[in-house]
Amino acid sequence: MRQDVRIVIIGGGPAGLAAAAAAAEQGVPVGDILIIERDDKLGGILNQCIHNGFGLHTFREELTGPEYAQRYIDLVEKDEIPYLLNTIVVDISKSKEAAPCGGHAGAAKNASRGYKTVTAMNSTDGMIQIRAEAVILAMGCRERPRGALNIPGYRPAGIYTAGTAQRFVNIEGRMPGREVVILGSGDIGLIMARRMTLEGAKVKVVAELMPYSGGLKRNIVQCLDDFGIPLKLSHTVVDIRGRDRVEGVTIAEVGPDRKPIPGTEEYYSCDTLLLSCGLIPENELSDGLGVGMNPVTNGPKVNESLETDVPGVFACGNVLHVHDLVDYVSEEATAAGACAARYVLEEETGAAGKQETGAADKPVTITATDGVRYTVPVSIHVDRMQETQRIRFRVGAVYRDAAIEVDFDGRPFRTWKKRIMAPGEMEQVILTKKDLAAAKGLRNITIRVVQGG
Ligand SMILES: Cc1cc2nc3c(=O)[nH]c(=O)nc-3n(C[C@H](O)[C@H](O)[C@H](O)COP(=O)(O)OP(=O)(O)OC[C@H]3O[C@@H](n4cnc5c(N)ncnc54)[C@H](O)[C@@H]3O)c2cc1C
Repeated sequence: MRQDVRIVIIGGGPAGLAAAAAAAEQGVPVGDILIIERDDKLGGILNQCIHNGFGLHTFREELTGPEYAQRYIDLVEKDEIPYLLNTIVVDISKSKEAAPCGGHAGAAKNASRGYKTVTAMNSTDGMIQIRAEAVILAMGCRERPRGALNIPGYRPAGIYTAGTAQRFVNIEGRMPGREVVILGSGDIGLIMARRMTLEGAKVKVVAELMPYSGGLKRNIVQCLDDFGIPLKLSHTVVDIRGRDRVEGVTIAEVGPDRKPIPGTEEYYSCDTLLLSCGLIPENELSDGLGVGMNPVTNGPKVNESLETDVPGVFACGNVLHVHDLVDYVSEEATAAGACAARYVLEEETGAAGKQETGAADKPVTITATDGVRYTVPVSIHVDRMQETQRIRFRVGAVYRDAAIEVDFDGRPFRTWKKRIMAPGEMEQVILTKKDLAAAKGLRNITIRVVQGG
């Protein structure tokens, strides 16, 4: 089966849904948009996040994960944007082929810059090939499994990622265990500490390798402190006891080199070990396409339009960088959808090639340094940016009474004081087009943490 559309969106989670709604809002005919989702329903991982706390920024309401996702599913349904469920994308490739695309007015002009071919599979149609002018990557992320962690000991039953346990409890209605130790203090682990407790389990301890939590402060307070669950920072699991089923784990303190300190071992009897040790953006498809990746985020490098270095391929949500709040995912995905729409629509208005990476002006690069781990985006084309540009990033340690400093070509431009910054929370600065345009010949923006600023 072969089909042509203008924009294919891979992933029907909050990012894909918001991107699709924004593309339609910008005037892309809905029949020229296609969402492809491998699960049997839209909504992404939020379908299993039944706790509240979602949507405070977007809707000024406290929603559960499924309620939040439903708001965007409703938009897609109202606009009648087509989507395929139970369909997995297995490949994206670039094509120079000058083929008409869906017979729309701009097709002939757009053909000159080539298409992307998206190959997907499902049990009804078998293999499907879809030619599209633009692709939005919105595949989300997955959890780091035990195999990616250096935990010694046997491999008995009772070891799960926190997300798998979340699915068991919230969707399948099954308890993974009764006495629980959690390794890693990412948000999913913190939320599952509370969830397991509410379901009658005893969560004995949360051990975190780093000297700070990887989760939001509000989750530490609401999910651990409120339930008297201890958080042991600079601790890791050094042994797992049990052959068939976990019987207990030993945790130990680690030094600055992250190696266990002999003599600090503590044994906890338990039947379950949950792992919440980081999320990995699902970028196998992006890699296969040859998209340039940021080694810090494991997501694509994007410009101000959230466009990767493959023209016409955009990225948003957790596949781009792991977000702390889904509200920011929706905001970013809305921008990606609007940019993809401009990419396909501008051709018709005669602005051929204007939005392609490296085409018109030379971009201003953004360098993350001195405590700032990465930035999204990594470059800005000043003539294409909106009136304001949000630059998101995370810091690499906990900073108190520090500041974020932005330099333009090595000269201080602006400083924002920050009472506290932590790796678990995303930070942002907003720059204006006016400021960037005024800095004539600007080549590089540097963003850094300044202590005591
Ligand atoms: C286990 C887990 C639990 C989480 N819990 C919380 C929480 O409690 N609170 C919170 O704020 N955030 C939570 N998050 C973060 C949450 O992922 C984001 O807030 C938000 O869901 C990200 O939206 P997204 O659309 O980028 O990704 P997702 O919601 O992950 O959606 C991506 C979608 O892409 C689909 N997909 C991936 N690859 C393909 C492919 N090849 N073909 C077709 N479809 C594909 C997936 O099936 C999925 O539906 C959790 C994340 C995980 C992994």
